[in-house]
Amino acid sequence: MKKITIAIDGYSSCGKSTLAKQIAAALNYIYIDTGAMYRAVSLYAKQHGFFENNSLEVGKLLNALPEINISFSYNASTNKSETYLNGENVEKDIRTIEISNLVSKIAQIKEVRKKLIDLQRQMGKDKGLVMDGRDIGSVVFPDAELKLFMTASPEIRAKRRYEELIAKGDDVNYEDVLANITLRDNDDTSRTENPLIRASDAIVIDNSNITQDEQFTLAMKYASEIINS
Ligand code: C5P
Repeated sequence: MKKITIAIDGYSSCGKSTLAKQIAAALNYIYIDTGAMYRAVSLYAKQHGFFENNSLEVGKLLNALPEINISFSYNASTNKSETYLNGENVEKDIRTIEISNLVSKIAQIKEVRKKLIDLQRQMGKDKGLVMDGRDIGSVVFPDAELKLFMTASPEIRAKRRYEELIAKGDDVNYEDVLANITLRDNDDTSRTENPLIRASDAIVIDNSNITQDEQFTLAMKYASEIINS
């Protein structure tokens, strides 16, 4: 059967990774979460003291870039692919609201993007993958056979994210989660380097008012049409 590349882009906390994982499992494709890669670089920068009062010392990060190795490894007990930073499992540490508040500063840096995009292209060279992020259909894989662009209202996204974090036992409040989502929407769409844009050939899925099952059925219909064409 023909293997394709599926690019899923969109705003923060739109459920991109949920949909991407469902599609990857159904098609037996690899799933790559590119946001995790930017988060891992942010964690490295934080651990090495490159953030001074929330402002990033870019020179220090650029010098350290060659030392930063990011990979993914499948964990059979959680049935999930987990993120590794220089050999250490950082899957939990990269998902905190603190890292969410730092990551868009890291994602603005051209050299960081170049390093991660090279790695993403390498990971996707054999097709048969679903990759989610902000610039996958526009920059990383402009020739992807299927491009989805996901969106939902900021309030709905914040509510879903808030409930997820509370279920994990995080001590957060809804207003902070909404503020973080608004901040990242702003940073992601206004940055100079590969801002979040909808590729002209991407199909928009607004999931404000549809269920996860409905969105999965829709996405699989698009994918099957291409795979079987
Ligand atoms: O997808 P997630 O919300 O985990 O991504 C974290 C951050 O990484 C985003 O807010 C964005 O700033 C950045 N990012 C990016 N390009 C990607 C994926 C993520 O700039 N392809």
